Amino acid sequence: MSILQRARAEIRALVPYSSARMEAGAAAVMLNANESPWAQTGLNRYPDPQPAALSSRLAELYGVDAQQLLIGRGSDEAIDLLVRAFCAAGEDAIVISQPTFGMYGVCARIQGAEVIDVPLDAQFVLDADALLAAIAPNVKLVFLCSPNNPTGGLVPLASIARIAEALAEHALVVVDEAYIEFADAASATSLLAHYPNLAILRTLSKAYALASARVGSVLASAEVIELLRRIQAPYPLPSPSVAAAMAALEPQARPLVDAAAQRMVAAREQLRRDIGALPMTRAVLQSRANFLCVHFDDCAGVFRHLLRHGVVVRDVSRYPRLADHLRISIGTPEENSRLLSVLRTYRAAP
Ligand SMILES: *Cc1c(COP(=O)(O)O)cnc(C)c1O
Repeated sequence: MSILQRARAEIRALVPYSSARMEAGAAAVMLNANESPWAQTGLNRYPDPQPAALSSRLAELYGVDAQQLLIGRGSDEAIDLLVRAFCAAGEDAIVISQPTFGMYGVCARIQGAEVIDVPLDAQFVLDADALLAAIAPNVKLVFLCSPNNPTGGLVPLASIARIAEALAEHALVVVDEAYIEFADAASATSLLAHYPNLAILRTLSKAYALASARVGSVLASAEVIELLRRIQAPYPLPSPSVAAAMAALEPQARPLVDAAAQRMVAAREQLRRDIGALPMTRAVLQSRANFLCVHFDDCAGVFRHLLRHGVVVRDVSRYPRLADHLRISIGTPEENSRLLSVLRTYRAAP
């Protein structure tokens, strides 16, 4: 049985919208899309829905076939497409492990799907036994965030494989690897060939410094990709974003991206030691991403102190079990030393 059987029947049966650009590519005279014929902006034509050059470059980068990849407006769009394709409103469910990235739950609630939380354990590690025990008949998607936002921990490939194996005909296991470039660990893409019920999210927003371009990918079996394409908006990729992505993915840019990620990791570890040594720090969670999650005595006080001195960090204390935690992104060397010097002037209220 294919995992596609678990997708919504009406999506499997849907006759998707066929855009002008899908039906015909470039020609000398293009009169099929009601566009302006005047090219002064350079943007008068609708863009290619999935530009082949970008697809093949991303497929090569991630080590998959181009048919196993769908490009969208960031991983945020991919999360939404997955939830809409698999979860029927009022019936189906997703599984998440809190504290984790908020978009999984938000997309599920917008779609009217149930959200089942199997919390990370006391060390903020994924509890695979508890997760598998919580799988109800209506669970269609399991979201694993690795490294996890906002705690920074990695999900071992062995856990991902075990969960995918156990849920082979039951649920699609979605591994969000937005921060994998900072993790010094192998991507779950190596498991795709063995587990057709696996999907992996990658993005150019973090290590590739293209958050504003909104380019993310979902990697999955060709049939899952074909299903998601049916419900994606006709022209998801603005051509300036495609051009920016192509430039960032030039072969000569690769060593620069790798070097930047390594500098980030070194800065993260230095900052972890420095923040860990401050008197008001209770703990700094081990992070495999480009941020640190820090437990302070009084995170609201530290947050206000930083803000008064022009430094904004993320207050994550509203997440379950992260009371008094702040998430601090790693910045440039100048920003990191500014952060530290402001933190060093913090005095707890008497
Ligand atoms: C930043 C982030 C993303 C990236 O989202 P884009 O839409 O690709 O910018 C995805 N997942 C997690 C967990 C993130 O923190």
